Amino acid sequence: MKVYINTDIEGIAGWVFYASNSNLSVNLKHLERMNRLLTNEVNAAVRACRECGADEIYVNDNHGCAYNILFEELDPNCRIIHGRSGYFPSWLPLLDESFDAAIGIGMHAMAGTPGAVCPHSCWHVTLGNGSELKLSECTMFAALAGEKGVPLVTVSGDDKIAAEVGEKIPDCETAVVKYGLAAQNACSLIPARACELITEKVYAGLEKRHSIEPFKLPGPFKLNVSDRDPAVKALEQDMSGNDLWRLMHDACRCFGNKWGDQSIDDHSWRYPDSVFQ
Ligand SMILES: [Zn+2]
Repeated sequence: MKVYINTDIEGIAGWVFYASNSNLSVNLKHLERMNRLLTNEVNAAVRACRECGADEIYVNDNHGCAYNILFEELDPNCRIIHGRSGYFPSWLPLLDESFDAAIGIGMHAMAGTPGAVCPHSCWHVTLGNGSELKLSECTMFAALAGEKGVPLVTVSGDDKIAAEVGEKIPDCETAVVKYGLAAQNACSLIPARACELITEKVYAGLEKRHSIEPFKLPGPFKLNVSDRDPAVKALEQDMSGNDLWRLMHDACRCFGNKWGDQSIDDHSWRYPDSVFQ
Protein backbone atom coordinates (compact mmCIF):
# COMPACT_ATOMS: atom_id res chain seq x y z
CA MET A 1 0.00 0.00 0.00
CA LYS A 2 1.23 3.48 -0.90
CA VAL A 3 0.09 6.49 1.18
CA TYR A 4 0.45 10.26 0.69
CA ILE A 5 0.42 12.36 3.88
CA ASN A 6 -0.05 16.07 3.24
CA THR A 7 0.77 18.28 6.22
CA ASP A 8 0.08 21.79 7.44
CA ILE A 9 0.70 23.20 10.90
CA GLU A 10 -2.23 25.42 11.93
CA GLY A 11 -4.34 22.35 12.73
CA ILE A 12 -2.00 20.58 15.15
CA ALA A 13 -2.80 20.26 18.84
CA GLY A 14 -1.19 23.19 20.66
CA TRP A 15 -1.06 25.64 17.75
CA VAL A 16 -2.96 28.91 18.15
CA PHE A 17 -0.44 31.56 17.01
CA TYR A 18 1.91 32.28 14.16
CA ALA A 19 5.40 33.34 15.13
CA SER A 20 6.44 36.85 14.19
CA ASN A 21 9.77 38.52 13.61
CA SER A 22 9.33 41.01 16.45
CA ASN A 23 11.22 38.96 19.03
CA LEU A 24 13.48 36.57 17.23
CA SER A 25 14.70 34.44 20.12
CA VAL A 26 11.23 33.93 21.61
CA ASN A 27 9.73 33.21 18.23
CA LEU A 28 12.43 30.77 17.24
CA LYS A 29 11.65 28.76 20.34
CA HIS A 30 7.96 28.83 19.44
CA LEU A 31 8.75 27.75 15.91
CA GLU A 32 10.94 24.85 17.05
CA ARG A 33 8.31 23.73 19.52
CA MET A 34 5.52 23.80 16.95
CA ASN A 35 7.70 21.98 14.42
CA ARG A 36 8.37 19.23 16.96
CA LEU A 37 4.65 18.88 17.75
CA LEU A 38 3.92 18.64 14.01
CA THR A 39 6.67 16.05 13.60
CA ASN A 40 5.17 13.96 16.40
CA GLU A 41 1.71 14.09 14.82
CA VAL A 42 3.18 13.01 11.49
CA ASN A 43 4.98 10.13 13.19
CA ALA A 44 1.67 9.10 14.78
CA ALA A 45 0.13 8.93 11.31
CA VAL A 46 3.11 7.08 9.84
CA ARG A 47 2.89 4.51 12.66
CA ALA A 48 -0.73 3.77 11.74
CA CYS A 49 0.18 3.50 8.04
CA ARG A 50 2.84 0.92 8.90
CA GLU A 51 0.53 -1.03 11.20
CA CYS A 52 -2.03 -1.09 8.41
CA GLY A 53 0.47 -2.55 5.95
CA ALA A 54 1.71 0.50 4.03
CA ASP A 55 5.12 -0.11 2.51
CA GLU A 56 5.50 3.28 0.81
CA ILE A 57 4.69 6.41 2.79
CA TYR A 58 5.34 9.90 1.43
CA VAL A 59 5.08 12.92 3.73
CA ASN A 60 4.65 16.34 2.11
CA ASP A 61 5.79 19.27 4.30
CA ASN A 62 3.36 21.88 3.01
CA HIS A 63 3.24 24.83 5.43
CA GLY A 64 4.84 28.21 4.69
CA CYS A 65 8.41 27.65 3.61
CA ALA A 66 7.70 23.88 3.30
CA TYR A 67 10.65 23.11 5.59
CA ASN A 68 9.08 22.66 9.00
CA ILE A 69 9.10 18.97 9.88
CA LEU A 70 12.13 17.78 11.87
CA PHE A 71 12.77 15.04 9.37
CA GLU A 72 15.71 13.64 11.34
CA GLU A 73 13.12 12.71 13.97
CA LEU A 74 10.70 11.09 11.53
CA ASP A 75 10.02 7.39 11.37
CA PRO A 76 12.67 6.17 8.89
CA ASN A 77 10.03 4.15 7.07
CA CYS A 78 8.61 7.21 5.35
CA ARG A 79 10.05 9.71 2.90
CA ILE A 80 9.82 13.48 3.16
CA ILE A 81 8.99 15.92 0.34
CA HIS A 82 10.08 19.38 1.45
CA GLY A 83 11.59 22.66 0.40
CA ARG A 84 10.45 25.21 -2.13
CA SER A 85 9.10 24.10 -5.43
CA GLY A 86 8.48 26.17 -8.48
CA TYR A 87 7.61 23.49 -10.95
CA PHE A 88 4.35 21.84 -11.89
CA PRO A 89 2.62 20.62 -9.80
CA SER A 90 3.99 22.94 -7.17
CA TRP A 91 1.58 22.11 -4.36
CA LEU A 92 1.44 18.31 -4.12
CA PRO A 93 4.60 16.93 -5.72
CA LEU A 94 4.61 13.23 -6.64
CA LEU A 95 0.92 12.66 -5.87
CA ASP A 96 -0.34 10.45 -8.69
CA GLU A 97 -2.56 7.47 -9.49
CA SER A 98 -0.14 5.03 -7.89
CA PHE A 99 -1.24 6.03 -4.36
CA ASP A 100 -3.89 4.05 -2.48
CA ALA A 101 -4.87 6.68 0.08
CA ALA A 102 -4.37 10.33 1.04
CA ILE A 103 -4.19 11.72 4.59
CA GLY A 104 -4.17 15.31 5.87
CA ILE A 105 -2.38 16.16 9.13
CA GLY A 106 -2.51 19.58 10.85
CA MET A 107 -5.29 20.81 8.56
CA HIS A 108 -7.11 24.12 9.17
CA ALA A 109 -10.45 25.60 8.15
CA MET A 110 -11.02 27.90 5.20
CA ALA A 111 -10.92 31.71 5.42
CA GLY A 112 -13.90 33.22 7.19
CA THR A 113 -14.87 30.13 9.24
CA PRO A 114 -16.24 31.39 12.58
CA GLY A 115 -14.41 30.03 15.62
CA ALA A 116 -11.73 28.25 13.60
CA VAL A 117 -8.06 28.45 14.59
CA CYS A 118 -6.06 30.56 12.10
CA PRO A 119 -8.52 30.07 9.22
CA HIS A 120 -7.24 31.13 5.81
CA SER A 121 -7.40 30.31 2.10
CA CYS A 122 -10.69 29.73 0.36
CA TRP A 123 -11.03 28.25 -3.11
CA HIS A 124 -14.09 29.36 -5.03
CA VAL A 125 -14.90 26.63 -7.53
CA THR A 126 -17.68 26.60 -10.11
CA LEU A 127 -18.31 23.07 -11.30
CA GLY A 128 -19.33 21.82 -14.73
CA ASN A 129 -22.93 21.51 -13.57
CA GLY A 130 -22.97 25.20 -12.61
CA SER A 131 -22.94 24.70 -8.86
CA GLU A 132 -20.54 26.68 -6.73
CA LEU A 133 -18.41 25.27 -4.01
CA LYS A 134 -16.00 26.70 -1.47
CA LEU A 135 -13.01 24.53 -0.63
CA SER A 136 -10.41 24.80 2.12
CA GLU A 137 -6.81 23.83 1.41
CA CYS A 138 -7.73 20.45 2.87
CA THR A 139 -10.70 19.75 0.61
CA MET A 140 -8.78 21.17 -2.39
CA PHE A 141 -6.15 18.55 -1.55
CA ALA A 142 -8.97 15.97 -1.49
CA ALA A 143 -10.24 17.18 -4.88
CA LEU A 144 -6.78 17.05 -6.47
CA ALA A 145 -6.20 13.57 -5.03
CA GLY A 146 -9.69 12.68 -6.28
CA GLU A 147 -8.66 13.63 -9.82
CA LYS A 148 -6.04 10.89 -9.53
CA GLY A 149 -8.56 8.42 -8.11
CA VAL A 150 -7.02 8.60 -4.62
CA PRO A 151 -9.45 8.83 -1.65
CA LEU A 152 -8.88 11.11 1.35
CA VAL A 153 -9.26 8.66 4.22
CA THR A 154 -8.28 10.63 7.35
CA VAL A 155 -7.87 14.27 8.34
CA SER A 156 -6.59 15.72 11.61
CA GLY A 157 -7.16 19.31 12.72
CA ASP A 158 -9.64 21.40 14.65
CA ASP A 159 -13.36 20.68 14.84
CA LYS A 160 -14.11 23.28 12.15
CA ILE A 161 -12.08 21.63 9.39
CA ALA A 162 -13.47 18.29 10.56
CA ALA A 163 -16.98 19.69 10.03
CA GLU A 164 -16.22 20.79 6.45
CA VAL A 165 -14.65 17.44 5.61
CA GLY A 166 -17.57 15.61 7.23
CA GLU A 167 -19.99 17.54 5.02
CA LYS A 168 -18.14 16.93 1.74
CA ILE A 169 -16.57 13.52 2.36
CA PRO A 170 -18.73 11.89 5.04
CA ASP A 171 -16.79 8.61 5.05
CA CYS A 172 -13.43 10.28 5.73
CA GLU A 173 -12.23 9.72 9.31
CA THR A 174 -11.50 12.89 11.29
CA ALA A 175 -9.21 13.25 14.29
CA VAL A 176 -10.33 16.39 16.14
CA VAL A 177 -7.24 17.35 18.11
CA LYS A 178 -8.62 20.72 19.27
CA TYR A 179 -11.81 22.74 19.41
CA GLY A 180 -11.56 26.20 17.92
CA LEU A 181 -13.02 28.95 20.10
CA ALA A 182 -11.72 31.95 18.14
CA ALA A 183 -9.01 32.66 15.57
CA GLN A 184 -6.29 32.48 18.24
CA ASN A 185 -8.02 30.53 20.97
CA ALA A 186 -8.70 26.81 21.29
CA CYS A 187 -9.46 24.04 23.71
CA SER A 188 -6.89 21.45 22.75
CA LEU A 189 -6.09 17.86 23.49
CA ILE A 190 -2.67 17.43 25.06
CA PRO A 191 -0.24 16.46 22.29
CA ALA A 192 0.34 12.90 23.52
CA ARG A 193 -3.40 12.21 23.42
CA ALA A 194 -3.73 13.94 20.04
CA CYS A 195 -1.09 11.59 18.65
CA GLU A 196 -2.95 8.54 19.98
CA LEU A 197 -6.14 9.79 18.36
CA ILE A 198 -4.36 10.38 15.03
CA THR A 199 -2.92 6.86 15.04
CA GLU A 200 -6.39 5.46 15.77
CA LYS A 201 -8.14 7.49 13.05
CA VAL A 202 -5.48 6.99 10.38
CA TYR A 203 -5.67 3.25 10.97
CA ALA A 204 -9.48 3.33 10.76
CA GLY A 205 -9.40 5.41 7.56
CA LEU A 206 -6.88 3.17 5.85
CA GLU A 207 -8.79 0.04 6.82
CA LYS A 208 -11.89 1.27 5.02
CA ARG A 209 -10.09 2.98 2.13
CA HIS A 210 -11.81 0.80 -0.48
CA SER A 211 -15.22 2.03 0.61
CA ILE A 212 -14.31 5.75 0.49
CA GLU A 213 -15.05 7.36 -2.88
CA PRO A 214 -12.32 9.64 -4.22
CA PHE A 215 -13.56 13.26 -3.96
CA LYS A 216 -13.71 13.86 -7.71
CA LEU A 217 -15.46 17.01 -8.80
CA PRO A 218 -17.11 17.38 -12.22
CA GLY A 219 -15.45 19.86 -14.59
CA PRO A 220 -14.94 22.00 -16.50
CA PHE A 221 -14.03 24.32 -13.67
CA LYS A 222 -13.90 28.00 -12.90
CA LEU A 223 -11.52 28.83 -10.11
CA ASN A 224 -10.67 31.76 -7.89
CA VAL A 225 -9.06 32.04 -4.48
CA SER A 226 -9.18 34.21 -1.37
CA ASP A 227 -6.47 34.52 1.22
CA ARG A 228 -7.74 35.84 4.59
CA ASP A 229 -11.08 37.39 3.61
CA PRO A 230 -13.37 35.12 1.61
CA ALA A 231 -15.14 38.15 0.15
CA VAL A 232 -11.93 39.32 -1.55
CA LYS A 233 -10.87 37.25 -4.54
CA ALA A 234 -7.19 37.31 -5.35
CA LEU A 235 -7.61 36.86 -9.10
CA GLU A 236 -9.23 39.63 -11.14
CA GLN A 237 -10.86 37.02 -13.33
CA ASP A 238 -11.79 33.44 -12.62
CA MET A 239 -9.51 30.90 -14.27
CA SER A 240 -11.28 28.26 -16.30
CA GLY A 241 -10.44 24.89 -17.78
CA ASN A 242 -10.75 21.14 -17.43
CA ASP A 243 -7.52 20.39 -15.61
CA LEU A 244 -7.95 21.15 -11.91
CA TRP A 245 -4.26 20.50 -11.23
CA ARG A 246 -3.18 23.04 -13.85
CA LEU A 247 -5.75 25.62 -12.72
CA MET A 248 -4.68 25.24 -9.10
CA HIS A 249 -1.02 25.63 -10.01
CA ASP A 250 -1.66 28.73 -12.11
CA ALA A 251 -3.97 30.28 -9.53
CA CYS A 252 -1.31 29.82 -6.85
CA ARG A 253 0.95 32.26 -8.66
CA CYS A 254 -1.01 35.05 -7.03
CA PHE A 255 0.44 34.00 -3.67
CA GLY A 256 3.99 34.74 -4.76
CA ASN A 257 7.13 32.75 -4.57
CA LYS A 258 6.14 29.72 -2.51
CA TRP A 259 3.62 28.29 -4.89
CA GLY A 260 4.43 30.21 -8.04
CA ASP A 261 6.43 29.41 -11.09
CA GLN A 262 10.19 29.08 -11.03
CA SER A 263 10.36 32.37 -12.91
CA ILE A 264 9.03 34.33 -9.96
CA ASP A 265 10.98 32.42 -7.31
CA ASP A 266 13.97 34.25 -5.84
CA HIS A 267 16.45 32.13 -7.83
CA SER A 268 18.50 31.42 -4.75
CA TRP A 269 19.21 28.22 -2.88
CA ARG A 270 19.29 29.74 0.55
CA TYR A 271 17.08 28.77 3.45
CA PRO A 272 14.18 31.18 3.05
CA ASP A 273 13.96 34.37 5.10
CA SER A 274 10.24 33.86 5.37
CA VAL A 275 10.27 31.00 7.87
CA PHE A 276 7.91 32.92 10.13
CA GLN A 277 5.06 33.12 7.64
ZN1 LIG B 1 -0.07 26.48 6.94
